[in-house]
Amino acid sequence: MLQIEPIPAFDDNYIWLLHNGAGDHDRATVVDPGDAEPVIERLRADALSLGAILLTHHHYDHQGGVGDLLSLWPEAMVFAPEDTRIRLATQRVGEGDQVRPPGLATGFHVREVPGHTATHIAYLGEGVLFCGDTLFAAGCGRVFDGTFEQLAASLRRIAALPAETLCYCAHEYTIANLGFAEWVEPQSEALAARMIDAKALRARGEPTVPSVLALELATNPFLRTNEPAVISAAEGFAGHRLTDATAVFTALRRWKDERYD
Ligand code: ZN
Ligand code: FE
Repeated sequence: MLQIEPIPAFDDNYIWLLHNGAGDHDRATVVDPGDAEPVIERLRADALSLGAILLTHHHYDHQGGVGDLLSLWPEAMVFAPEDTRIRLATQRVGEGDQVRPPGLATGFHVREVPGHTATHIAYLGEGVLFCGDTLFAAGCGRVFDGTFEQLAASLRRIAALPAETLCYCAHEYTIANLGFAEWVEPQSEALAARMIDAKALRARGEPTVPSVLALELATNPFLRTNEPAVISAAEGFAGHRLTDATAVFTALRRWKDERYD
């Protein structure tokens, strides 16, 4: 049975630790180790070695720990997208590729989800998605070197996955994201309920991630660009009619960038 646990890093990153669970406590996999130190500590505490690293994109807070981890576990495989900004990769992967981390009973399919960056990928397993900085709980990543069109399309691909999919993003941004979502849909009871739940989790020091895709579809404005209330809120920011979902998405993303964050 695949175990997935967060390793908190920096102020608000989650490095995801994957292993087979009790009885098979051998080689683990980590997703987006921006910092080696907390990973090393956790692996040592749990008597695990490192079999593989999965990278979603090149940003430092996601790949910064790879070098130090490889110096301790030089045989670890490093899966990453084709991108010269990621130097330490052993396997370059893209759309449709399968990833089988050594020591894990489960494998993953690679999905290209550009937008936050031009080469961002996600890893889809059985009922779980490691989506890096593409989809956040109640939000989405900013557009850096990808495009708004790419990010809108990538989020549509994620939205089409089974509704029970658990989304493991790389940051604890949920409460701030819910605040913006409430700007967009102030009347939403689902949002108000989610805010209460998220605040209760954080008050207990617990992560709000993963989130189930069904909840994202009900409350994440960036996945709700076909909803009349979301469209009219986005039009209110843009100051004119928005005629397709990508235009609505772009207005929402600019609104949050310019006025909220
Ligand atoms: Zn990033
Ligand atoms: Fe990040």
